[in-house]
Amino acid sequence: MDRKTLVYFQKGFNFSQDGPGNRLVYHLYGCNLRCPWCSNPECFAKDAKTQTQSVEEIADEILRSRPMFFSGGGVTFTGGEPTLQFDALRELLQILKKEGVHTALENNGTHPRLPELFPFLDYLITDLKHPFSEEHRRITGAGNETILSNLRAAAETRQLALRIPLIHGYNTSPACVAGFVSFLSSLPRRPDFTLELLRYHEYGRVKWERHGMPYRVSGGFVSPEEFSAIRGAFLGAGIPLINT
Ligand code: SF4
Repeated sequence: MDRKTLVYFQKGFNFSQDGPGNRLVYHLYGCNLRCPWCSNPECFAKDAKTQTQSVEEIADEILRSRPMFFSGGGVTFTGGEPTLQFDALRELLQILKKEGVHTALENNGTHPRLPELFPFLDYLITDLKHPFSEEHRRITGAGNETILSNLRAAAETRQLALRIPLIHGYNTSPACVAGFVSFLSSLPRRPDFTLELLRYHEYGRVKWERHGMPYRVSGGFVSPEEFSAIRGAFLGAGIPLINT
C-alpha cells in the first residue's frame, strides 16, 4: 500500500502564535516562493536538516499530544509552504478532522487546489505580500492571481486570518497600500475574518547567512509614521485590523 510521507525541518509547541491556544506546529520543508525577507529560509536551504515521517506516524504523534492542546489549541502546519506536500497533507488533515483535532494551516495561498483542504481546516492563515501580480512575481518569483482567488474563496466560506507583511521599499508605497485596500474592500468579510499588518523584522538575516545565502533586504524597516499612515488607510476604508 502507498504510504504517504511528510518532510519537515522543525516541530514544536507554541502558544497562540500560529492559531488559537497551545499548538503543536510542524514546519514543512520546501517553498515555491523566494521572499527576500523570509524568516524561515531553512525551508529552501539545500543544507537544511529535515525529518521524514509517514502520515500515520505523524497522526499518531498528534493524537498522543492531545492533552497538550489546552486553551482551544491543536495542530498547525506551516513552512515553508505546506501545500507543496499536498496529497500527504490532505490525508493527514482528513484523519485529524475525523478525530476532532483543531487544525490550522499557514500557507502562501499559491496552491490551485487549496480550497480542497477547507473542509478539514478550522483556521486558515494566509499572507498577501503584494497586491499587483507583476510586482509580486518580480519580488517572490510568482504572480498573485491564484493567491487572490484562493483568498476570495476562503473569505466567503471560512475563518480566515489574513496577514500582510509590510516591508519598506517593497510594498508600502501609497499605490501599493491603495491596491491592498482596494482588494480587501472587495472581499466578502465574515465576522470571524481578521487582518493583521506585520511590520518588517530581520529575524531571518542570521539564518540566511548561516546557510550561505545572501540576505538582500536593506532599509526594510517601516517607521512609526509610515505604519500609522498605512493603518489609517485600512481603517479609513472600514477594514478592521487586529494586533497579536
Ligand atoms: S512564502 Fe513564506 S516560507 Fe516561502 S519564501 Fe515567502 S516568507 Fe518564506
